[in-house]
Amino acid sequence: MAMSPQAPPDILFRNLRLGDGSRSAIAVVDGRIAAIGSAAETLSATNVVDLDDALVLPGFVEGHIHLDTSFYGDTWRPHVPYTAGFDVRERVAIQHRNMAAAAPMDQRARNQLELCIANGSSKMRSHVMVDASVGLKSLETIAAVREQYRDLIDIQLVAFPQSGILTCPGTAELLDAAFDHGADVIGGLDPASLDRDVKGHLDVVFGIAERRGVPVDIHLHEPNMMGVFSIEEIAARTRALGMQGKVAISHAYGLGDVSADTVRRVADILATSGVAIMTNAPGARAFPPVLALREAGVTVFAGSDNIRDS
Ligand SMILES: [Zn+2]
Repeated sequence: MAMSPQAPPDILFRNLRLGDGSRSAIAVVDGRIAAIGSAAETLSATNVVDLDDALVLPGFVEGHIHLDTSFYGDTWRPHVPYTAGFDVRERVAIQHRNMAAAAPMDQRARNQLELCIANGSSKMRSHVMVDASVGLKSLETIAAVREQYRDLIDIQLVAFPQSGILTCPGTAELLDAAFDHGADVIGGLDPASLDRDVKGHLDVVFGIAERRGVPVDIHLHEPNMMGVFSIEEIAARTRALGMQGKVAISHAYGLGDVSADTVRRVADILATSGVAIMTNAPGARAFPPVLALREAGVTVFAGSDNIRDS
C-alpha cells in the first residue's frame, strides 16, 4: 500500500520476518498498516520498535470452536469415556450435566476467547447450541460477549442444532429466529445418523439459508458411505441454490474411512460445488485426507473444535 512521504508513520516496526522468510519493516499510521517491505524500510519515525527478527504473520483464523460449551478457566472435569463407541446423543447428555455445574457461560466464553486472541486469532467461527432446551439463551449470551471483543476479533456465530432438528420439535422455528438474535450462519448435524431423515433435515437448513441469505456449516460425524451420501446431498443442494463458496462441512469423518478412489470422486464434487471442509484432525479417529482434497481444489480449513469441553 502506498503512503505519502508527508505522513511519517506513528510506529515503525523494524527487523522482522514475514511468512515467506523475507526480512521486512512495517509502518503503521492511525492504527493501520500503511506500508510493508521496501516501502517501509526507508521510512523514519520517532517511534521505532525493533522486533529482533521476530516472525510477523496475518491473524489466525479459528474456523470451528464452541464458545458456549468450553470449560476453559473453570473447574477441571475429567473426560467421560465412551460406553460403546462414539454416540452423539450420549455426548450431549454428558455435556448438559457438566454445563449445569459450570461457571456462568459468559465468563467461560471470555476465558476461552482471551486465550485465542492472546495466541493470535483475529477471526473466529463459533457454533452455538440452539435447541428446545436452551432456546436462544446461549446465542444471546455469546452474541453479547462478541460485542465486548468487537475491536479485537471478528466472530461469526453459527446456529447449531445439537439435539437434532426433526427429532427435537421446535428447533426449526428457533433456528430461523436465531437470525434475529445475532446468528450469521445456519448449522446442521448428522442428517442421517441423528435425525434419520437427510431430506427433511436439509430442507430446514437450506430453506433457512435461502430465506435469510446466510451461509451453511454442517457438523458431519457420519462414517463411511453414510457420510459420503450426506456430503453428496449437501453438495447437490449447494449447486441448486447457487451457494458455491458459502457452504462448509465440518469434520466429514466419512472421508477418512473410504477408499482413495472414493475420496477422489467426492473431492471433485466438493470442488465443483464450492463446498469447503473443516477438519480438527482428531487423534482418535480417521479424518479427511487434507492433501488429496487440496490437490482436487477443495477449500480445507481447520479449527480446534473446542478447548477443554465435555
Ligand atoms: Zn463442533
